[in-house]
Amino acid sequence: MVWDAWGVLEGHKPLSPEIRALIGGAFGISAETVSRPGEDAVRLRDSALTADQSAELAAIVGEGNVSTDHHDRLVRAGGKSTFDLLRRRSADVQDAPDAVVTPVDHDEVLALLTYCSDARIAVVPFGGGTSVVGGVDPVRGAFDAVIALDLKRLDRLSAVDVVSGTATLGAGLTGPQAEKLLGEQGLSLGHFPQSFQFASIGGFAATRSSGQASAGYGRFDDMVHHLKVATPRGTVELGRAPASAAGPDLRELFVGSEGTLGVITEVTLRVHPVSTNTAYEAWSFPDFTTGAQALRALVQVGAAPTVLRLSDEAESGVNLAMADRIGGATATGGCLAITTFEGTEAHVAARSAEAAAILAASGGTSLGADPAVAWEHGRYNAPYLRDSLLDSGVLCETLETATTWANLANLKAAVTGALTEALSAQGTPPLVLCHISHTYPTGASLYFTIICAQTADPMAQWGVTKTAACDAIIAAGGTITHHHAVGADHRKWMTDEIGDLGVEILRAVKAVVDPAGILNPGKLLP
Ligand SMILES: Cc1cc2nc3c(=O)[nH]c(=O)nc-3n(C[C@H](O)[C@H](O)[C@H](O)COP(=O)(O)OP(=O)(O)OC[C@H]3O[C@@H](n4cnc5c(N)ncnc54)[C@H](O)[C@@H]3O)c2cc1C
Repeated sequence: MVWDAWGVLEGHKPLSPEIRALIGGAFGISAETVSRPGEDAVRLRDSALTADQSAELAAIVGEGNVSTDHHDRLVRAGGKSTFDLLRRRSADVQDAPDAVVTPVDHDEVLALLTYCSDARIAVVPFGGGTSVVGGVDPVRGAFDAVIALDLKRLDRLSAVDVVSGTATLGAGLTGPQAEKLLGEQGLSLGHFPQSFQFASIGGFAATRSSGQASAGYGRFDDMVHHLKVATPRGTVELGRAPASAAGPDLRELFVGSEGTLGVITEVTLRVHPVSTNTAYEAWSFPDFTTGAQALRALVQVGAAPTVLRLSDEAESGVNLAMADRIGGATATGGCLAITTFEGTEAHVAARSAEAAAILAASGGTSLGADPAVAWEHGRYNAPYLRDSLLDSGVLCETLETATTWANLANLKAAVTGALTEALSAQGTPPLVLCHISHTYPTGASLYFTIICAQTADPMAQWGVTKTAACDAIIAAGGTITHHHAVGADHRKWMTDEIGDLGVEILRAVKAVVDPAGILNPGKLLP
C-alpha cells in the first residue's frame, strides 16, 4: 500500500467536478485539491536500534530481513485511520518503528520474541497495516526501541482437509492471496471486509474482524477452528475439535488480542465450496425503523441472506445524489437495503424467495438486482474517496458499534446527536450517514460515516468529536467496537466495556505469556 493513503496508486483519482460541486455546495468550501508532501520530505525519528541489536535480529531472520530503510519504516509507521492519514500530511518529525523485521515461519517468530524480551525491544505485529484504531502505532512504551514484526512471509496454505471443510493458512496471507489459494482447491473463506484487498489472515484473527458477507458466513472469529500462537514464553496451540467442553475456550483469549498476548502465525479456518450461484436483490423501505424491523424479522427466523445491509435515510440520499451526479441512479429515496444470496442453485432459489416474502411483508419494495450488483461492484472504492476528500478540505471518517435490536434506535440517535453536536460546536456541522452492517438474531451493528468541512486543525477537530461519540456509545449501552478493534484509540473505554476485574484478568494473562511486556505496548489494555 502507498504510505500516505489507502491502497495502491492506480486506485487514486481526484474528485470529479460533479462531486466537487456537490461537496463545495454542501459545506460551503472550495474543495480545491491540496497536494501532499512527498515521501522524501517526511522526517522520521532516527532508528534507536544499535548495530549489535540489528546484527542479533539478522542472525535470527537473515541479513536481508531486517531493514532500517526510510521507505520500509515509513510504510509501517501506522495504520489507515483518518488520524493516521492526516498525520502523514504533517511536516513534523514522525514516529516510525526502529526497524522492520520479516520472519519466514513460526520458529523464527518464536526466536525473535525470546530475543526481544531479553534485549527489551518492543514488538508490534504487523499484518496488512489496515488498522483504523492505532493498532500498529510504533509505540516503544517502557523500551528503548520498537520493531515492526511484518508477517508477510508467512504466506502458505499449509493444509486442506476437504472432508472436514478446514484449511490452514499462514498469518501473513492477504485476503486475495488466501482466496486465490483456496479457490485453486474449489474452496472459499467468504471473509470480505472493506479492507479485504490488503488486510491479512493474522490481522483478521487478532482484531475479530467482520466481513460484508457475515450474515451468511459469520464473523472471522466464528470461522477459527485452530490457532498457532508464538509468545515470549513459547508456543500455544488451541482448538482440536469443532466444539469442546474442556473448560473456557482459550482460543478466545488470542482471537482479538491485537498482538498484545502473542503473534498468531497460523490459523485453521472453516471453509466452504466456492459458490456456484449468486442472486442479488435490493430493497427500498420508507424509513430506517421499518427497514430495521424487516432485517430483524429475517434474521430472527433464520432466513438471513449472505449479505444483508440497510442504509439510513441520509446515507441512501447521499448514495442517490452521488449516483445521479456520475450518471446512474441506484435508489429511489427512502432507505436502501442490499441482499445477496450465495450457494447452490436450489439453496439460492429457496432462500431468496423466503427472504423476499418476509421483506415485502415487512414494508419493503423490491428494486431488482441492479443496485445490489452496483454495490458489490463498487464496494472497495469508498476508502479511495476518503483520500480525495481529505485532500480537498473535507473531513471524512467512520466509526462503528453494536447493540441489541431493542436498543438500536436509541444508540443510533445518541451517536448521531453526539457527532452532530461536537462538530457543530466547532463551526463544521456534519453529514452523519449510518447503515446496519452486520446482523444477529439478538441485535445489529451500526456503521457511521461522518463528513464535514475541516477546521484549521482537523486532527484536534476529530479528536474531540471521536471522544464525544465514544462516550455516547458507552452511555447508550453500545459496544465500543463491533469489528474495528480497540488498538490505542479505544483503550480508554475498555474498563467501561469489561469492568475493572475484566481488565485485571487480561493483565494477568499478559503477565504470564509476555512477562517483559514487549508485545504491542499501549494497545488494547487501558
Ligand atoms: C478502509 C478500511 C476498511 C475497513 N473495513 C473493515 C471491515 O469491513 N471489517 C473489519 O472487520 N475491519 C475493517 N477495517 C479494519 C481493519 O482492516 C481490520 O481490523 C483488519 O482485520 C486488520 O487486519 P491487518 O492485517 O491489516 O492488521 P494490522 O492493521 O496489521 O494489525 C491490526 C492489529 O492486529 C495485530 N496483528 C496483526 N497481525 C497479527 C498477528 N499475526 N498476530 C497477532 N497480532 C497481529 C496488530 O499488532 C494490530 O494490533 C477496515 C480498515 C480500513 C482502513
